[in-house]
Amino acid sequence: MTVQSVDLTNCDREPIHIPGLIQPHGVLLAINFSTLEIIQVSDNTVKSLGHQPEDLLGKPLSDLFDSKQVDTIQACLNGDFESLNPLDLSIKRQSKTLRFDGIVHRCDEVALLELEPKKTKGKADFFDFYQQVKGVITKIQKAATMQQMCQVVVQEVRKFTGFERVMIYRFDEDETGIVIAEDTNQEIPYLDLRYPASDIPKQARQLYTSNWLRIIPNANYEPVELIPKENPLTNQPLDLSLSVLRSVSPIHLEYLQNMGVVASMSISLVQEQKLWGLIACHHSTAKYIPYSVRAACEFIGQVMSLELANKEASVDQDYKMQLKSLQTRFVETLSQAEYFLDGIAQMGSQMLDLVNATGAVICNSDRCISIGETPKETEINPLLDWIKPQLQDNLFHTRSLPHLYPQAESLKAVASGVLALEISRIHQNYIVWFRKEVLQTVNWGGNPNKPVEVKDDGSLRLSPRKSFALWQQTVSGCSLPWKDCEIAAVAELRSLIVGVVLRQADELASMNMELQRSNEELDSFAYVASHDLKEPLRGIHNYANFLMEDYGDILNEDGVAKLQTLVKLTQRMENLINSLLHFSRLGRAELMHQQVNLYELVQQAIATLTMSRPQDQIDFRISQALPIVECDRAQVNEVFTNLISNAMKYNDKQDKWVEIGFVPKTRKQATDPYTLYVRDNGIGIPQEHQEKIFQIFRRLHGREEYGGGNGAGLTIARKIVERHGGKIWLESTLNEGSTFYFTLAAEEI
Ligand code: ADP
Repeated sequence: MTVQSVDLTNCDREPIHIPGLIQPHGVLLAINFSTLEIIQVSDNTVKSLGHQPEDLLGKPLSDLFDSKQVDTIQACLNGDFESLNPLDLSIKRQSKTLRFDGIVHRCDEVALLELEPKKTKGKADFFDFYQQVKGVITKIQKAATMQQMCQVVVQEVRKFTGFERVMIYRFDEDETGIVIAEDTNQEIPYLDLRYPASDIPKQARQLYTSNWLRIIPNANYEPVELIPKENPLTNQPLDLSLSVLRSVSPIHLEYLQNMGVVASMSISLVQEQKLWGLIACHHSTAKYIPYSVRAACEFIGQVMSLELANKEASVDQDYKMQLKSLQTRFVETLSQAEYFLDGIAQMGSQMLDLVNATGAVICNSDRCISIGETPKETEINPLLDWIKPQLQDNLFHTRSLPHLYPQAESLKAVASGVLALEISRIHQNYIVWFRKEVLQTVNWGGNPNKPVEVKDDGSLRLSPRKSFALWQQTVSGCSLPWKDCEIAAVAELRSLIVGVVLRQADELASMNMELQRSNEELDSFAYVASHDLKEPLRGIHNYANFLMEDYGDILNEDGVAKLQTLVKLTQRMENLINSLLHFSRLGRAELMHQQVNLYELVQQAIATLTMSRPQDQIDFRISQALPIVECDRAQVNEVFTNLISNAMKYNDKQDKWVEIGFVPKTRKQATDPYTLYVRDNGIGIPQEHQEKIFQIFRRLHGREEYGGGNGAGLTIARKIVERHGGKIWLESTLNEGSTFYFTLAAEEI
């Protein structure tokens, strides 16, 4: 073992619940739970009970206790022994009656009966107990603050027990502990001293939560062995987790000795099943505390544990109110802002007040907004990458970033404290608050860093520190700690933000539904109308023709001309109705997605178009790199056909050209959809008409000009593009030409 590898966390591995030894101030009997037969005893029965251990082994309990007492013990084992302990037990020994406090526990198949000789007569009366604790409970409840409550408890426990020093020791998040209240008649105060986490190893903390009171009446005791050494039912060492007599770890005894403590008692303070702290009592000479007094102290510990949450809630009451009102303002601003990031940024310095920070950044995937003093954007991205895997319930906080993330050493002036909130992983929305470094002095109870001693023979030995005198340490790379209420406010903020965003999404969804419904209605109306109109129109057309054929001779020239116009008009109307029908069908048909090579598609479209207009001399410039995209081939063909045919038609130049291509993408846009375009050097479209031309049957020219058309082409093109999730727009300069752009899928935001 090297010096480096030994530290007091080695104590975490000491199996302190199975020492096979007990303290000598009582006797332990291990009993087979089913047969009530004694299977293991401590090796001090001669002195306390007048029996050799061997004489007791294998004997029924009834050999020691009368049948009434055996019944009481059994009832206790079967019932709630927590509330029945201690039992008032006695053993007849020749002419004397030995009286004991009997403490019963059960661990699997073994019942433990621990007997502590009674120093006073009779069982503690409930009313004595009640009288003792009643006043203390009232004082605990009346205490206005946590500090006052702690002070009441240390004073009252000291009054009850007569210990020289009674302290409240509170564990911090890093598991170090600090003395936050003290009542003592000793010269040197321990108040405000901090103790390293290793002073109370992990498994000891675990035992403190199952066993709320622990007493060592004399740290200089000779431990008593169990006979036999192992539990005969399991051939394992007896589990003494719940035993009140369990022997103490030698390291802990040495620790007490170094502190000058001979008797000690500790009572657990537990909040939400976690060890919050201890009431720690010290005495410089041996001191036994009878079970009844211990029970009263334990009860005080329980009442204090229950009150912890109340007292903690009352801490920083004004500050919490202030946080609440900031939160409300925050949500109001956010719900009015169009974009989440902008909404938060509008809050400005209030964002900092929300958690009393000195800086904050609000980030999404492509930008970061900073408020106050923060690291640079180039430093924030790697920091965020480091934080992300550590998030728990969307939160991460530390008051000493450089200690966890060495790269942050250079940032410690502005970012020793970090509180990060993930709002959306998908959209990479994060808010990170920062706090500056505040140099601090920690008052340790002795230098906590020297647990290893090198013995004369050169071997290493783990030993607790010898001196508990004040040892001051200046700590850098730390900010003021984030308060629980600040962390809670941030957690709440997230749900408020999510609430606002969800509400906005809901509103959008219901607007979309409404829109979809009216679009569907319109589609079906257009479909039904155009479909049903076709038939009477055909009738009018036919009858006009009949008239012409049958009565053409009787009619004068004017009459014939009017009939011919009528036929032409019906043809035009049929044309329009067909376009409308086609348009409404587009909205109803499913898209047939497939991989389409746009270069090939455009070539085919041009071939078809030029076939029907062979007289046009047009220079087609097609980009060979036109991509392959997933879309509905027939519909996209229609878009290109409409746009290219317009580009060919609306051109009065001598040298006409039409260019078909796409806008190159930057690396950042790699996953964005392609922007395709059809460009011409034609007549151009005045700015004020650029939106109108997408309306159905809207034309800018006379019917016969530029080769005619019915004004549905662009409307259909837009419908198809939008059904693909894309958009269509144009840029145009009068007399110079137009470019129609479109995409076939939505850009991811
Ligand atoms: P049409 O059947 O009349 O071509 P469209 O919906 O395709 O119907 O176009 C609507 C109107 O927009 C056209 O009548 C024309 O005035 C104008 N237009 C469309 N494309 C162009 C273009 N490339 N250059 C100039 N004007 C155009």
